[in-house]
Amino acid sequence: MPNYPYSDIESGMVNKDRLINDPQRFKPHVVILGAGASRQAFPTGDANGNIIPLMDDLVNVIGLEEDFVKYKYEIDEPNFELLYSRIQKENPESELLNIIERKVFKYFESLELPKVPTLYDYLLVSLRPKDIIATFNWDPFLFDAYNRNLQKISLPKILHLHGNVRVGYCKNHNFFGKYGEFCSECFTPYSQADLLYPVSEKNYSNEFIEGEWRVLESHLQNAFTLTIFGYSSPETDKKAFDLLQKNWQAKSNRELEVVEIIDIKDEDVVINHWKKFIHSHHYHYCSDFQKSMIPKFPRRSCESIYVPTILGKFAEEFSIYSESTFGGIYNKLIPMVEAEEVLNDIKK
Ligand SMILES: [Zn+2]
Repeated sequence: MPNYPYSDIESGMVNKDRLINDPQRFKPHVVILGAGASRQAFPTGDANGNIIPLMDDLVNVIGLEEDFVKYKYEIDEPNFELLYSRIQKENPESELLNIIERKVFKYFESLELPKVPTLYDYLLVSLRPKDIIATFNWDPFLFDAYNRNLQKISLPKILHLHGNVRVGYCKNHNFFGKYGEFCSECFTPYSQADLLYPVSEKNYSNEFIEGEWRVLESHLQNAFTLTIFGYSSPETDKKAFDLLQKNWQAKSNRELEVVEIIDIKDEDVVINHWKKFIHSHHYHYCSDFQKSMIPKFPRRSCESIYVPTILGKFAEEFSIYSESTFGGIYNKLIPMVEAEEVLNDIKK
């Protein structure tokens, strides 16, 4: 009998105990996050009720209208990316741009996670160290959720593709950490990793951002599967779309892989937008993160795709959303992490 994962199972289903106790050495699960993910995580705002802006309402949410009025600039475009890009093109030295950048930074920096487990916590603990989450968002939610779960459970890597309000770095050592803390090598304070503002010709040449992209590219090339969550890949950032596609398809035409799209927009619209990433009907679409394979099969997302698509069997779900406290979440995950540690030991 060929020795492929779960090949000894004779019934039509791989049950949850088997999935939990017998993880496989699959390649990375890559998750890309856009503003829609943060909006879905906090539909009524952050811990203090601050609304999470989307590009179409950022000017209004952050209160930039008064600055446009002051500088006699007409807001004839609701989308912040297009608006910013246009002002930048007209005058890159404009004082208005400076004010906008400061206000945007300050707003995102002030955002805070609620004390209870949030979508970001569920997302992070449901993936494994082999996996990676890359966000385009400036908000601090992924970074802060990562830090509050880090001492409790092994987590995936995280990347900030457009910079972030919490991230700092040391130019001398290429180390990254929380802005305001110190480089562990030279003990100088981390400098701020600038936010990448929307200009039509992005070049990702900033040291920090370039490094983040390099890590993402290698993971994408070797990925087992890809989830795109709330990221609309705007026309101001065609370069990001092209880079993602180029690397996703660098080593294979991806005829077998399943791409998952989580987006509140209609299925037809989003699948059409991402059609270059998807082969035939090999995609999973949902509008709600809770219906994604990530929380339904915590830490076993790749196994949950392999079982039906390659093995032709049904995988039994065990959603992490059955737990509503951090203690409950960690208790549920401990047996899974232990099984992963055994797997890694065998590998060595
Ligand atoms: Zn240093």
